[in-house]
Amino acid sequence: MDKEFLVDAQHLYRYYGPTCAVQDVSFQLAKGDVLGFLGPNGAGKSSTMQMLTGNLAPSAGKIRVRGIDLLDEPKRAKRELGYLPEQPPLYREHSVDEFLSYCGRLHLVPKNRLRQALDSAKERCGLGAVGKRLIGNLSKGYQQRVGIAQAILHNPAVVILDEPTVGLDPIQIREIRHLIRELGNDHGIILSTHILPEVQGVCNRVQIINQGRLVFADSMSGLEQHLHSQHLIIRLRQIPSIDELTQVPGIVAAEALDTGHFRLRYEGANPASAVAEIAVARGWGLEELVPERRTLEQIFVELTMQDHVPQDTANGEAA
Ligand code: ADP
Repeated sequence: MDKEFLVDAQHLYRYYGPTCAVQDVSFQLAKGDVLGFLGPNGAGKSSTMQMLTGNLAPSAGKIRVRGIDLLDEPKRAKRELGYLPEQPPLYREHSVDEFLSYCGRLHLVPKNRLRQALDSAKERCGLGAVGKRLIGNLSKGYQQRVGIAQAILHNPAVVILDEPTVGLDPIQIREIRHLIRELGNDHGIILSTHILPEVQGVCNRVQIINQGRLVFADSMSGLEQHLHSQHLIIRLRQIPSIDELTQVPGIVAAEALDTGHFRLRYEGANPASAVAEIAVARGWGLEELVPERRTLEQIFVELTMQDHVPQDTANGEAA
């Protein structure tokens, strides 16, 4: 069964002295998965990523990469892994070509295949025109592409990216996310981030870590459902009373946010169409009616309070 998974992590723990940074984390990565590993700063993302890549020894637990035990056979297992750490190890005084051929040798790419591996990684990362440029002279977005190119150079089955868009401007972020989506066609990807839209834009599965523990694991659509609260936000030109609003079928509470702007809580099915019909019929001057979206922080609080721990997330189904 293990062989089917690109990554199978079982009961990982990591202590730093008395601090338990990662606590009983288990999950699997299947072929075709782009798994978002989401959590606030200090949650344990980097520690988990470093354990998955063989750069940090777990205090307890097992990691298999394509069925190969990472702790027993690190060299073999690491051939299947590409890693972009949070601080990419780039040599600023090297040209892109020099740096990538150095990385190719580190990744044990055979000499007669190095040129082709280099060309292919550069092409996939949009670096074709900058091979001779010094890394230190490239923009941060291009430097990040170089970091991703070194991670895919040896064509690993799994690519692990730790906070890959931190410090980039909005255009660079879009480009890097596009690149990650493309890489998802050929590799299993684990992407750590503290940015919710990043997983929404790129991933098909998501797991949330908080204080070292996995508190949520589901498909992207499962997370989307959690993002919807039982609230509608409405903006009206003619201001009704709170009583009039709570008389709309389905609405159980209304709260004025500011002039003409209300937050309506409902129970059961979303009553937006009834609200809109009544608003129009009574001439309230409907300007806006939208579902309220929860923030990631609210979801963290909710999930942590529920202590919703997934059992088996291999197929992306809710636990
Ligand atoms: P994240 O990547 O989600 O920000 P980290 O894995 O970096 O989280 O950190 C998890 C926890 O472990 C934090 O409380 C952090 O302070 C602590 N930690 C991380 N690295 C070390 C270390 N080398 N020594 C001591 N504590 C550490």
